[in-house]
Amino acid sequence: VLRLRGVRKEFRGTVVLDGLDLDVPEHAVVVLIGASGSGKSTLLRCANLLEPITDGTIHLDGEHITDPRVDADRVRRRIGTVFQSFNLFPHMSVLDNVTLAPRRVHRRPRREAEDRARELLERVGLADKAAEYPDRLSGGQQQRVAIVRALVNGPRLLLLDEITSALDPELVGEVLDLVRGLREDGMTMLLATHEMGFARQVADTVCFLEGGRVLEQGPPERVLGEPEQPRTRRFLQRII
Ligand code: ATP
Ligand code: MG
Repeated sequence: VLRLRGVRKEFRGTVVLDGLDLDVPEHAVVVLIGASGSGKSTLLRCANLLEPITDGTIHLDGEHITDPRVDADRVRRRIGTVFQSFNLFPHMSVLDNVTLAPRRVHRRPRREAEDRARELLERVGLADKAAEYPDRLSGGQQQRVAIVRALVNGPRLLLLDEITSALDPELVGEVLDLVRGLREDGMTMLLATHEMGFARQVADTVCFLEGGRVLEQGPPERVLGEPEQPRTRRFLQRII
């Protein structure tokens, strides 16, 4: 679904992604791990065209999306993104937060957007919160709403950046359960996390990033259990 080749990203001369290659096949869950500053968030922001890349190519479903002629808004509609901070609009109800994009961007009728939104809220156990405002929800509930908002347009790909790091530990489980459910539904996902236990559970492939490159990748049991690269080993020892 997503293919990165030779992706380079510089911020005013600082190389953050250094000719990176990465594939996210259909229905796969690819998990990015690596030290703080290794470029995980930058990679996700480049993948949904929030950041222009300096060199290389990114393809989504075979389309060259980093071609400068491509309409970035159109591409972003096919990608759902959730960040660490939920970024819900505080002055809008849960339902309005979730249906904003389909109504404004896709010009779908309100009724249709709301039906779909209610269906998804039901699935994540938040059907009774549709009329609430975000500040009346727990962090875990807010993050689940943010995930529903990312799903409501039926994206081809979900990008998730540290979606549990702003949550109290007792709220992490409900968000991870939701991601596990999406995985079972066959959702294609690329996510960054510092939680190795979660990576082990959901990943088809774990990619260890260092110095803006994929230093090592493979099934979670191998990369997390028996890393080949000394640097991966050192990273894992440090964080456990
Ligand atoms: P973390 O685990 O802490 O979230 P990360 O792997 O997500 O880290 P990035 O946020 O992608 O790392 O940052 C990679 C590098 O890019 C860092 O050195 C950071 O300072 C730099 N960087 C990121 N965004 C910008 C920006 N807008 N301008 C300049 N430098 C940036
Ligand atoms: Mg980050």
